[in-house]
Amino acid sequence: MTHVVLPACTKCQACLNACPVNAFHESEHILVINPEVCIDCGACTAECPPQAIVYEDDLPEDAQASLIFNARQAKHCPLIDAAM
Ligand code: SF4
Repeated sequence: MTHVVLPACTKCQACLNACPVNAFHESEHILVINPEVCIDCGACTAECPPQAIVYEDDLPEDAQASLIFNARQAKHCPLIDAAM
């Protein structure tokens, strides 16, 4: 399981400091979460102003494409190092 960033993400990056495992990558229009790294702690969800981060099991039916998008984009978009 993983958490998923939805298209409502504004790339404000408020979530980055909350993530204990540096799971966020930067795609062209939104941040995405690497599902192979996310440990489902849920810390990022509370930090997201547009509430654009959702637990995989809570994804609405019409948002399933975001699950695939996050996984694909995380493979080739740059990792964001919260420490930088
Ligand atoms: Fe990082 Fe936790 Fe959010 Fe997963 S749920 S991206 S581990 S802060």
